Amino acid sequence: MKRIYQHFDRFEVYKVFHLLEDAGVPCFVKNELLQGAIGDVPPQNSEPEVWINDNSWFDKASQMIKEFETEQAQTLKRHSAQWVCSNCKEDNEQTFAVCWNCQQSS
Ligand SMILES: [Zn+2]
Repeated sequence: MKRIYQHFDRFEVYKVFHLLEDAGVPCFVKNELLQGAIGDVPPQNSEPEVWINDNSWFDKASQMIKEFETEQAQTLKRHSAQWVCSNCKEDNEQTFAVCWNCQQSS
């Protein structure tokens, strides 16, 4: 058995767990129930973790998690997409209709 992933957010841990499970990797979540026990144990030891049963999956599973995280980061980036003003080259939030700097419309 080997720990392959750890995150303070249980939802992130479960995303990874389901990712691996769907791919047929034998794995399980550890520490998910200890969140209410913070105070009894040091916080870093009570973060939910994903463990794999079979160490031979480790490299493949690590790669999958890496790709998954890259994908997530890209999705996040798309959601917070900014646009660059064609007039003054300032970065603008996606929600801005006109440039905050020079009022040029996007
Ligand atoms: Zn501008």
